[in-house]
Amino acid sequence: MVVKVAVNGYGTIGKRVADAVARQKDMKIVGVSKTRPTFEARQAVERGYAVYVAGKGARSEFEAAGIPVAGTVEEMIQGADVVVDCSPEKVGTANKELYDRLGVRAIWQGGEKAAVAEHSFNALANYSECLGAKRVRVVSCNTTGLSRAASLLQRNFGVREWEATLVRRAADPRESGKGPINGILPTMKLPSHHGPDVQTVLPGLPITTAAVVVPTTLMHVHFNHVRLEHPPADVSEILARFSREPRFVLFPGSSGVEGTPQVMEWAKDRGAGRGDVMENVLWEEGTKMKGQDLYFFQAIHQESIVVPENVDAIRAMFSLETDAERSMKLTNESLHIGAK
Ligand code: NAD
Repeated sequence: MVVKVAVNGYGTIGKRVADAVARQKDMKIVGVSKTRPTFEARQAVERGYAVYVAGKGARSEFEAAGIPVAGTVEEMIQGADVVVDCSPEKVGTANKELYDRLGVRAIWQGGEKAAVAEHSFNALANYSECLGAKRVRVVSCNTTGLSRAASLLQRNFGVREWEATLVRRAADPRESGKGPINGILPTMKLPSHHGPDVQTVLPGLPITTAAVVVPTTLMHVHFNHVRLEHPPADVSEILARFSREPRFVLFPGSSGVEGTPQVMEWAKDRGAGRGDVMENVLWEEGTKMKGQDLYFFQAIHQESIVVPENVDAIRAMFSLETDAERSMKLTNESLHIGAK
């Protein structure tokens, strides 16, 4: 079976999801939607995608800009088995009514509340629970990064307690109107919403989070303190577990990767599309153990980390692969995830 996929909202996440889906042998893009005839709409046409007009967009504006329009979002969805909603936060939930009326399966992103879908999804953590699901939410970038790491540690060592401090990027590189450009903003909601969000994927995980926003566009960084149930004798066992899983990349001290600027440079040099980093990034020297306590930093590329999760979510919903490992292997290979 080849699943026909529509991407509603061709922005930061949507364009990456469309390109990733287009690389899968068991999926096909039937169209993407834009509200305005921007450079991205033009590039979508150049990439061979049928472009549909979304939201308050006007067909005449696209035609005036010389961008061919295939139809309305409703028409796009009528030709699809599943719609991946990548519209801005809260708009996705407003779009639900349309998806319900058309009886199409749907995936939402982490900007929507968990209640929009039957399941909150992360491939490493709960793939099998989403087999055959009709409504799935792929959790946010921070929640994806935490869920991956928590799933791996919980499975191998047990987690008694987890405290994470999230140092959040202020904006995506394209968002010229957002800030702060000078300042550090603590998130006054304590604990932050990220812990409960991880629990939508891993119920019962004893995690507490706090967040602070800093003036950078280059990735989020998490500082994690995890008390393990069954700590290994040495941190090398932890590092070995992380390095065996392709959705993590570990930098040794000798790599010269001091922080997010070098991670981004490494990503551009390795030639992955758009310089994306779909893996959780860890540092060997930034991973330490003291008794039962594990301390580690991880960096999360907000623009791309959820992309493979959307691909795996589609596979789970249509039971194209019933085994999480097999789905992730297909996704990883097609997107060069784990290619060091
Ligand atoms: P974005 O603003 O870059 O892109 C959203 C796109 O949707 C734009 O092209 C916009 O024109 C289009 N759109 C607007 N109204 C629409 C409508 N009514 N119907 C269809 N499309 C419409 O946003 P983004 O950063 O790609 O975020 C999309 C979702 O992904 C949000 O839920 C967000 O929280 C989530 N997310 C974002 C990031 C990130 O760092 N950018 C990371 C993970 C998850």
